[in-house]
Amino acid sequence: MNKPLQVMKFGGTSVGDAACIARVAQIVRDAARERPVVAVVSAMSGVTNRLIEAANRAAAGDGDQALAIFAALREQHKTALASLIRDDAKRAQVAARLEKIFDEGERLCKGTAMLKELTPRALDAISSLGERLSAPMVAGAIEELGARSESVEATELIVTDSSHGGADPLMDRTRERSEARLRPLLEQGVIPVVTGFIGATKGGILTTLGRGGSDYSATILGAALGAGEVIIWTDVDGVMTADPRLVPEARTIPEISYREASELAYFGAKVLHPKTLHAVAQAGIPVWIRNSFAPERTGTKITPKGRSNGGGVKALTAIRDVALITIGGPGIVGVPDVVGRTFSTTAEVHASVLLISQSSSQNDICFAVTASDAKRTVDALRKEFAHDVAHEKVEHITVDSNIAIVAVVGENMRGAPGVAGRTFNALGREGVNIIAIAQGSSESNISFVVFEKDMKAALTATHREFGLAAPVEESKAKGS
Ligand code: ADP
Ligand code: ASP
Ligand code: MG
Repeated sequence: MNKPLQVMKFGGTSVGDAACIARVAQIVRDAARERPVVAVVSAMSGVTNRLIEAANRAAAGDGDQALAIFAALREQHKTALASLIRDDAKRAQVAARLEKIFDEGERLCKGTAMLKELTPRALDAISSLGERLSAPMVAGAIEELGARSESVEATELIVTDSSHGGADPLMDRTRERSEARLRPLLEQGVIPVVTGFIGATKGGILTTLGRGGSDYSATILGAALGAGEVIIWTDVDGVMTADPRLVPEARTIPEISYREASELAYFGAKVLHPKTLHAVAQAGIPVWIRNSFAPERTGTKITPKGRSNGGGVKALTAIRDVALITIGGPGIVGVPDVVGRTFSTTAEVHASVLLISQSSSQNDICFAVTASDAKRTVDALRKEFAHDVAHEKVEHITVDSNIAIVAVVGENMRGAPGVAGRTFNALGREGVNIIAIAQGSSESNISFVVFEKDMKAALTATHREFGLAAPVEESKAKGS
């Protein structure tokens, strides 16, 4: 079998219950007949949220509630396992492995409840349990189909820095470990099923790569093993022109560039973790997004260069969990270095700034940060500018959380004049008020801030303006 390796990642909904896991096993087994395959799996859908909830309950001192969550998760996994694996001995073996992981989780929660403290390290240990539970089940389901499979915890493979909750890989070590652990399995015809989302520091402390991080796990392993391609199997047909939950007429984009896909991910398109393409950028490995519920569809191919659609705008995205911070007042023109001090402050508090805009009158600087960074950032800014506020050079530092950022993304927008104008006309027609606007330095993104209540209307109007819905769909809709 000298075809190049494929790394396949399956998200939470794709392993959401026994029927889904059986479908995943089929996809993996079929692919592995043709070429070596490494599978990467997420926790069953909703499980990571429940685990984090259990951790928080425990930290609040409510150990019983945390244990009740564990009892429910135990049931959920047991039920799935019962219908997945028929062979009694094999099922008992997987069940024993799950039981050990549940015991570990309960111990972690009891400890947290006792201390009433949840360290980032403990939170990672608890939130990682979902992947550690799903991987042995998926491996078992693959074996049920007659293939050989083994589950592997990514703590053995992905070596990361120690940024708990958002760790990054140390690629040289990760490459060595992945080769040493996975290559022999592949050579023996065994399909490794690796836990997504997690890694470990050099010292062996478990870390997580951030919410939605299993996509990143897949590309990290793809790069580490020199894979021919990475396939991210999810619950939609690929990268679409907009989130189909918000814009039902969105359609699948057949091919898109790394940069476009990264812009979409960065501005909230949940279909890809924002760091997914970092890992494969150097090697240029293509990444596919496909639907595990409709494997006959080809999905989206993400390549270094993508494919031009001529018109510039490829897709839209929106991000809701953001806050707009404004520093303003007629005096700020005269205050030296306001911009510099503002962004040194955001850097000091490690706030992630998503968009920056300075109003034309130069009386205001506003920028958007993720909602979880907002309070910390505003507090730090008020401190930094306390003296200027006291002397009325800075009039106000305000924060607005009822906003959303909508981004228009496309690699060739630089050569397509009028994108901004058309966007604003379309929004004007819908009566959507634009609070701020910014064009990314890459010119593959124009983003604007609207009130959250207007977000859906803004997406729909822009989607229509740039003709992003499939023509077929459009004519069908008109004909009906
Ligand atoms: P998984 O559990 O497989 O990782 P996610 O829920 O993380 O799946 O991501 C898939 C979801 O991303 C889709 O169900 C869809 O609602 C959402 N999404 C947001 N923007 C887009 C987009 N542009 N294209 C496709 N899906 C999108
Ligand atoms: N299970 C993790 C999460 O829910 C990672 C992932 O699904 O990618 O964030
Ligand atoms: Mg995801």
